[in-house]
Amino acid sequence: RGILYLVATPIGNLADFGFRAVEILKKADAIACEDTRHSRPLLDRYGIDRPLLALHEHNESTQAPQLIERLVRGDTLALISDAGTPLINDPGFPLVRLAREAGLRVVPIPGPCALIAALSASGLPADRFAFEGFPPRKGPARLAWFGSLRDDPRTLIFYEASHRVEATLRDLARTFPPGRRLVIARELTKLYETLALTTVDSAPALLEQDPDMRKGEFVLVLEGAPPAPPDSDELDPEQTRILKLLLTECS
Ligand code: SAM
Repeated sequence: RGILYLVATPIGNLADFGFRAVEILKKADAIACEDTRHSRPLLDRYGIDRPLLALHEHNESTQAPQLIERLVRGDTLALISDAGTPLINDPGFPLVRLAREAGLRVVPIPGPCALIAALSASGLPADRFAFEGFPPRKGPARLAWFGSLRDDPRTLIFYEASHRVEATLRDLARTFPPGRRLVIARELTKLYETLALTTVDSAPALLEQDPDMRKGEFVLVLEGAPPAPPDSDELDPEQTRILKLLLTECS
């Protein structure tokens, strides 16, 4: 039985391709990718000359069983996406689920991932975080969705497309309290990489002042809600001290 490798590819800087990733891809019987025209130049650059097959959101449900058959017959397959880690807002979930249900080996080859790169360099707490993917595209749905996240204490991470980032930042400013920290991570690993630390209320102006800040690929990293105030039923140290004194008096 073959192995399914999930191989991360660069998110901008081609030198971020991992050594092991390249070695695995060179040996695979076939490489499944989102768009063969997109991946071919990257693979050519690293001398990876293996058959490519397309696996994208429109065909993955029908393609996945066929790939499972190949794995069962003993083929080694690798899955890559256009950029970053497969399955992270990219195709691959039906294939990986079927492979695991069939008891096949699924081996991750870790590497670039935009959300992890942004979080690690954001300066916001990385001990607990929630990746929320792309916000809804339509305004009212996006506002309601942000509203449901307002009190989440974890650092929140979003992906956003350049043509929606201004509207999304305006909605963040409308939903979250002023002063909540926000890092706009743009064009990570690329020439115009920017990691701007701002607040939800100041972010829209940042993009108005600098049109370049509206271009490219974006990860938004938002500070979580402050911890809830202690439960009012609980006694503070001074109250505890008085209560102990009273109990001693009464006993
Ligand atoms: N699988 C990818 C990963 O591991 O990060 C994510 C794929 S998702 C379809 C594409 C989105 O990821 C972009 O719209 C952007 O929000 C984010 N992204 C990808 N590359 C990026 C980069 N170099 N800088 C900032 N954001 C990036």
